[in-house]
Amino acid sequence: MKSYEVLIIGCGASGSICALTAQNKNIAVIDSQTKVAKKILATGNGRCNLTNINLEDKSYNTEIKSYLKKFDVNKTLNFFSSLGLEVYADEEGRVYPISNAAKSVVDVLSNRIEEKVDLYLGQTVGDIEKQDNNFIVKTDKENFLCKKLVVSSGGNSLIAPLKKMGVEFKDFYPSLVALKSKEIKDLNGVKVSNVLVTATNSLGETKSEVGEVLFKDGGLSGIVIFNLSTLFSRTQNYVGKIQIDLLPNFTKEELINKLENRKKLNVCLDKFFTGMFVPALSNEILKQVKINTNLNSLKLNLNQIETLAKTIKNLTYNIDGCFENNQVFSGGVDLSLLTDSLMYKDIKNLYFAGEICNVDGVCGGFNLQWAWTSGHIVGENL
Ligand SMILES: Cc1cc2nc3c(=O)[nH]c(=O)nc-3n(C[C@H](O)[C@H](O)[C@H](O)COP(=O)(O)OP(=O)(O)OC[C@H]3O[C@@H](n4cnc5c(N)ncnc54)[C@H](O)[C@@H]3O)c2cc1C
Repeated sequence: MKSYEVLIIGCGASGSICALTAQNKNIAVIDSQTKVAKKILATGNGRCNLTNINLEDKSYNTEIKSYLKKFDVNKTLNFFSSLGLEVYADEEGRVYPISNAAKSVVDVLSNRIEEKVDLYLGQTVGDIEKQDNNFIVKTDKENFLCKKLVVSSGGNSLIAPLKKMGVEFKDFYPSLVALKSKEIKDLNGVKVSNVLVTATNSLGETKSEVGEVLFKDGGLSGIVIFNLSTLFSRTQNYVGKIQIDLLPNFTKEELINKLENRKKLNVCLDKFFTGMFVPALSNEILKQVKINTNLNSLKLNLNQIETLAKTIKNLTYNIDGCFENNQVFSGGVDLSLLTDSLMYKDIKNLYFAGEICNVDGVCGGFNLQWAWTSGHIVGENL
């Protein structure tokens, strides 16, 4: 059995920074993937949005101010700069590598990690046991013994062995995820920008955001929907509704005036929105208002114009589920169960970093920032 002072399970974002920060010389890192931080390659659409200079504590499901004080965005940027990573921030504060390639982030991490620690890639941890003052970590290939154990295995991995040791978890639910609605048909690929979207969950709680929405077959996607999906993951079901104001910059009265003017187009209703919305969306609006599409626009009465305006400002879909491929999980080990250095209070020398903690943020670099913050804090304390 191989023996180390520190064992880190998971060489993703948090495990990597943890390994690089630790002063301890006797460290091994295990990962089921055959490459370091492989998941980072898929982040930010292949560009890796590694943090956000406009980071606010309220971008997370829980208070993480005290942790950010220890390792904030500036420290993260300095850390990556020290590894040679050149970055830029876009107009929304989202930070990307200047290469616009997530691989640059992975490369600067993996170059150093390979030099610094013993890496066991392509090994999946299946069991963990506590034996006196040590942990025994069993992979599908070999067993390890360590004094300090860091679990940085991402979302819902390793729950069973950790639960067996007495670790408590808040249930994991997909978050930052596309939402399903059986009511959405014939709109696949339609994209609407600068729309105001309001989500209501099964508890009646609401959350709104302005941005872009992408219609899928049987559902809705895009950053705004991902962010609003957090409202559903927190109720641990994906039932509620999404209302889309397609023209939030118009008041209802302004829109009614606009539509009144468009009557003069003297066209059948199926052409009434040509030049205003793409055909699939026009059809959707007309489907929802249930007005005969053969009606000539000149014949639209005020009541019908008002109904059209109301629908444009309130396109509503009942949500009945979520798709797979969530970006993060909500749930995990609650911060209240961890010390300031993210050690499990009831199990000495067992640390948690990254997504396995019950911390999740909205899109924009916030989740990786938590991975860097938590991984660094644990690393400093090993
Ligand atoms: C498609 C996509 C895009 C995203 N884009 C962004 C973005 O642009 N910005 C952002 O902030 N966040 C983004 N995220 C979220 C971000 O990737 C995660 O928040 C972050 O990677 C979590 O870091 P972590 O270290 O906790 O886990 P991970 O980075 O997932 O690392 C966990 C590691 O543990 C390993 N592991 C798991 N179980 C075992 C086991 N049993 N044995 C051995 N090894 C194991 C895994 O192989 C993995 O390498 C995105 C997520 C996805 C899926």
